[in-house]
Amino acid sequence: MLPAVLALLAAAPTRDAGPPPGLSCLTTFYAGEVHHRPDAGWGFVIDGGTFIPWRAQARPVRDIGVSPGDGGEEDEEESKEVIDLESIYAVPYVAGPIVRLDASDAGAIDDPGRVRIEQLFLTTYGQSRGEVFDRLAKVRFFGLRYPFHELAAEPLRRVVARLEPQVQENPKLKPFLTEIGGTFIWRKIARSKNLSTHAFGIAIDLNVDRAHYWRWQRRGEPLKWNNKVPQAIVDAFEAEGFIWGGRWLHYDTMHFEYRPELLSPLCRGGAGMVLDAGVDGGR
Ligand SMILES: [Zn+2]
Repeated sequence: MLPAVLALLAAAPTRDAGPPPGLSCLTTFYAGEVHHRPDAGWGFVIDGGTFIPWRAQARPVRDIGVSPGDGGEEDEEESKEVIDLESIYAVPYVAGPIVRLDASDAGAIDDPGRVRIEQLFLTTYGQSRGEVFDRLAKVRFFGLRYPFHELAAEPLRRVVARLEPQVQENPKLKPFLTEIGGTFIWRKIARSKNLSTHAFGIAIDLNVDRAHYWRWQRRGEPLKWNNKVPQAIVDAFEAEGFIWGGRWLHYDTMHFEYRPELLSPLCRGGAGMVLDAGVDGGR
């Protein structure tokens, strides 16, 4: 009997199963280190020694810079005041076929990717306008050069490389990719105290004239998702780690932002993540 019991014990997972993949993969994309603290569990230590827990011990009441997103509401009921990293993945981001969103659908989900831990961006991309500015590269994007953060410039260039041959074949794609709304601008999210991802030089707005944006609706109207951005463009961005604002109930279809943690297989296993393009029923 005893050997059998010992064998069972040996096979059982150790007390510490290691950091969750959604946490350990952050070191690939963000400046910091994975740490375990006896009192707080797993977390991420960023510049200056600040520890951000993977899972907060109690629901937080303090805002540490999690924003509801570019153009997101800052109404009390909309803001997502969370201080743990696990929350980044709480709403799965599902790449693949464009899904028409219906706000009246009881199963309609929140805006995936709109939980952002601003401290991660500050420590990785720059703490001030000047710091970010000094790290901007130029990326040629369908005729013009745009400033983009050096850490996200290569992924954006790869998006262009994916799209160029497709634009040759299908010129109807081109108008979406010209008259670009913008990339880097040091600003806060509309009606929010949090910085926009545009402030870090990791977001791009395509042609505004071809976009739909929930804030352009009449005030008080129920959300009416709409989109003209073609699938091929969405696919090219998502393949390189950019999430699309067209997957938000609070839609912003011109907006793409570099959030590789939400699309990378390295992060597989993050709470509630769905990574495979084309996975059905995710929403
Ligand atoms: Zn934008």
